[in-house]
Amino acid sequence: MEIHCNRLDRGFELYKEEFERKALEVLASGWYVLGNELNSFEQEYAEYLGVGYCVGVASGLDALKIAIHLLGIGSGDEVIVQGNTYIATVMGITENGARPVFVEPDKFFNIDVQKIEEKITENTKAIMVVHLYGQAADMHPIMDLSKKYNLRVIEDCAQAHGAEYCGKKVGTFGDIGCFSFYPTKNLGAFGDGGAIVTNCKEFSDRAKVYRNYGSEKKYYNSIIGVNSRLDEIQAGLLRVKLKYLDTLNWERKKIAATYLKNISQKDVQLPMEHLGCKSVWHQFVVKTKKREKLIKHLDVLGIHSMVHYPIPPHLSEAYRYLNKAIGSLPITEAYSEEVLSLPIYNGMTDAEIKYVIDGINSF
Ligand SMILES: *Cc1c(COP(=O)(O)O)cnc(C)c1O
Repeated sequence: MEIHCNRLDRGFELYKEEFERKALEVLASGWYVLGNELNSFEQEYAEYLGVGYCVGVASGLDALKIAIHLLGIGSGDEVIVQGNTYIATVMGITENGARPVFVEPDKFFNIDVQKIEEKITENTKAIMVVHLYGQAADMHPIMDLSKKYNLRVIEDCAQAHGAEYCGKKVGTFGDIGCFSFYPTKNLGAFGDGGAIVTNCKEFSDRAKVYRNYGSEKKYYNSIIGVNSRLDEIQAGLLRVKLKYLDTLNWERKKIAATYLKNISQKDVQLPMEHLGCKSVWHQFVVKTKKREKLIKHLDVLGIHSMVHYPIPPHLSEAYRYLNKAIGSLPITEAYSEEVLSLPIYNGMTDAEIKYVIDGINSF
């Protein structure tokens, strides 16, 4: 059997007719950018999350960049962020001229809230929280710190559409929540897309102007903006998928529960669920000190796994200017050598799930 780490075609097949109908409807409408589909999606997604406003943009990275820009964070400012994240989180900070200050992760792969306070300086302007692999970060202590030190909180929710912390959806805790709709995400489009969400009307209004060349009224530009819009076809297709997001997340949870119950291999450490959090299992990430051997073993069986992520941002060539030595973030670096993501996707069959479990257990 051949099992890929992800199968986006299966996700399409699940609601094929509805996707096809919506795509044709938008094509026939003659209106492709900033129209009714986007307005409706923004309303429906804000409602789903329980937040005041949603503004569609062109990608998750743009959402992060725009959020930090709107908060007035830039050159000379520091933003606290966990070391083990996708590099786009860090680029959202540095593209605004601000400096990332890295904090080690906890055993749930999210920022270790015990280690934030020691990194706060007079230049710290915000905490960028990442809800990595689909699981919410420990938001209450983070929000307490933000109040104590008057810091902004931005949430990178690119991997956590619908995830909850104490019954509240991620993206609704901080000043601005940022989402990606890249095809592999839990709420994935059929191309690039992203959104920012907020309870602040001013941020929402400014984001809508900024994403469209700084233009409120056609050909009248009040500020210098960017071109970062979520197009009508993607917005329409996301509306179709949003109706099923809870079902899709539930299906991932079922796969994860089956893995957790049946994988028993002494060299493989299973992921843990934080008490009171509802993970949406964007990835199922195990840890093992024998990663290279396990990858080879699975490959021989036709099971493809992935590493999220092999090089932590602080050691990436792109961030050499930050001058971070190997060993400066030992936990982050250890994770980058030990984590392995197993196949998990919507439309995964029972036989495929069992094949992965047997494959790991035979290691
Ligand atoms: C995917 C992702 C992003 C970037 O989203 P794009 O839409 O690909 O730009 C940012 N942060 C995290 C944690 C991600 O997983």
